[in-house]
Amino acid sequence: MHMENIENIRTSRVTPEPPLAEDEQDAENDLGWGYKDTRFEALANGSVVLTGSRYNLCGFEMPGLLPWLSKSIGADLDPNDQVLPQVDPEVAPARDLTAFLDAIKGVFEPDQLTQDDRVRLRHGHGHTGLEIYALFYERLPRVPDLVVYPTNHDQVAALVSAANDHRVVLIPYGGGTNVTRALECPSDEERPIVSVDMKRMNRILWIDERNRLAKIEAGAAGRTIMKQLAQAGFTIGHEPDSVEFSTLGGWVATNCSGMKKSRYGNIEDIVTDLTVATSLGVVERHTQCPRESSGIDSRRCLFGSEGALGIVTSATVRLHPLPEVSRFASLIFPSFEAGFAFLQDVERERIRPASIRLMDNVQFQFGMALKAEPTWWEERKSRLTKLALTKLRGMDLSQCALATVVFEGSAREVKAQQRELLRLARAHSGLPAGSDNGERGYNLTFGIAYLRDLVLRHHVLAESFETSVGWGEALELCRRVKARCADKHSELGLPGKPALSYRITQLYPTGVCIYFYLALYTKGVADPILTYAELEEAARDEILACGGSLSHHHGVGKLRAQFLNRVQTPAMNAFNRGLKAALDPRDVFACRNQGLLGGGNPQPAPNGG
Ligand SMILES: Cc1cc2nc3c(=O)[nH]c(=O)nc-3n(C[C@H](O)[C@H](O)[C@H](O)COP(=O)(O)OP(=O)(O)OC[C@H]3O[C@@H](n4cnc5c(N)ncnc54)[C@H](O)[C@@H]3O)c2cc1C
Repeated sequence: MHMENIENIRTSRVTPEPPLAEDEQDAENDLGWGYKDTRFEALANGSVVLTGSRYNLCGFEMPGLLPWLSKSIGADLDPNDQVLPQVDPEVAPARDLTAFLDAIKGVFEPDQLTQDDRVRLRHGHGHTGLEIYALFYERLPRVPDLVVYPTNHDQVAALVSAANDHRVVLIPYGGGTNVTRALECPSDEERPIVSVDMKRMNRILWIDERNRLAKIEAGAAGRTIMKQLAQAGFTIGHEPDSVEFSTLGGWVATNCSGMKKSRYGNIEDIVTDLTVATSLGVVERHTQCPRESSGIDSRRCLFGSEGALGIVTSATVRLHPLPEVSRFASLIFPSFEAGFAFLQDVERERIRPASIRLMDNVQFQFGMALKAEPTWWEERKSRLTKLALTKLRGMDLSQCALATVVFEGSAREVKAQQRELLRLARAHSGLPAGSDNGERGYNLTFGIAYLRDLVLRHHVLAESFETSVGWGEALELCRRVKARCADKHSELGLPGKPALSYRITQLYPTGVCIYFYLALYTKGVADPILTYAELEEAARDEILACGGSLSHHHGVGKLRAQFLNRVQTPAMNAFNRGLKAALDPRDVFACRNQGLLGGGNPQPAPNGG
């Protein structure tokens, strides 16, 4: 690695090599989730395979998956009854951008701008099931008219300035993985819309080994950040399930949370400084200190701003040395409630494995359905394990819950955590279920993300949503959300039954994050998008009634904007509107996330910067 001391206040900064160009084999799918080489396929024999070799689910037939899904959803998912997505979705023609293009002509190379239909289409949506359904089977009413790929902060600032001067809307684009309709282009927007794709701003600008900090460009995807920092012996420990594709700027803009937050914190704990191009100029502090009491910190308002206030061009993040030891574990509990009580003790005793997640019985069964046909020997082994669990330990496999755990740290620390966790698990009738199951469970998440696109073809709309809530209300919230979805489902007279499952993914001293999956059989349903939205709104209404948050980490976007009035006072709404009006008086960042609009009365163009 190329190392260089910078003549600066700090003496230990190194500048890593820029990331290598992505391999062709890492090409991303522009019509659905993930990498191009990876997708679930249903075979004529009823089995399902995940193509490619990237994930632990790849390359083998899963005979149990479709039957299990059919049972859960109360409808027969026939492998031969598929509605294939359109190959070439219709894209509205691009609007005229001549004056804007003239204004930025000297700043960008031709290969940094495109009006290609397919590229514009990909930049006009995120990954809600509803957007993907529209992409597969209907059409996106509006997509960006131009996509620009800046390579440095000054180019982003030039775009902001030109957009202010020429009545153009800018929508920052990270990895396009949001699940809040945050990238959806408002269809009634009269001005041309430009998507600012940050992917070419993916360098680590410096690493300060002594002070354990790094400055990273905002378009760097999680996989690039992890790989590059690991080469220097560090990690930021931020691993959302979308870590392969989502970006540093997107994490800040959505106030993201990673699976290992217990050890490394959420994004707001990880990021110590931001550089943001706004219509008013650059938002940034000149100092890099461990903590400050230097007045109102406007940078904090950029967390969760969802592209409505400006474009994050880089961020300084806290570093941790790569853990000496990384271990997995899993624990089985007789019921979700027993596992939940165990988690509460884990938090009370401040035992902090990097990740600990508790899955309900539906997800436990789902994990089993994702397995290959067992060999004779595996079949015997599995039967013996089941017998031991049921007959000797008195577990009911239709009730039990599974916790998967990741430990990271020094060998001593990890050993102590393993011991303490086992002690607490036993106190709640929990049993160790093997490190293999822990590792498999933790990594399944990445492969499962591809499942949504398969089940859509089989008339199933599946989506996740989440919340955070106090320890005291969490179990009741799970019960009530499940009941509310079932009630709404029958009220709407829908076919099959709603499949709802949940897991606890994050622990806090005051409560937990609960992550739900909801799947709906839509064959014969007149408007699947609207119907699913009605169900999810009912679930959200129930969550709020139980004291849960509007969102723990997905954010608001356009999906949940209508609920904001329920969770904050009019003064808070006015505060946010005032912030938007002050920072973006011409409403250049008019994505309308959180219902935010710009200043209204156009004022003389503020200089971009
Ligand atoms: C399979 C899957 C798993 C997921 N797992 C998690 C998880 O574990 N934890 C979690 O928190 N979320 C998760 N998400 C949601 C999503 O990945 C996060 O919200 C993520 O932070 C979005 O980042 P992105 O780079 O893809 O942003 P995008 O989707 O591109 O954009 C999201 C919003 O941020 C804005 N934005 C993007 N970049 C910038 C920038 N540089 N400056 C200003 N605004 C910007 C956009 O305009 C948009 O409003 C998951 C989503 C999927 C589909």
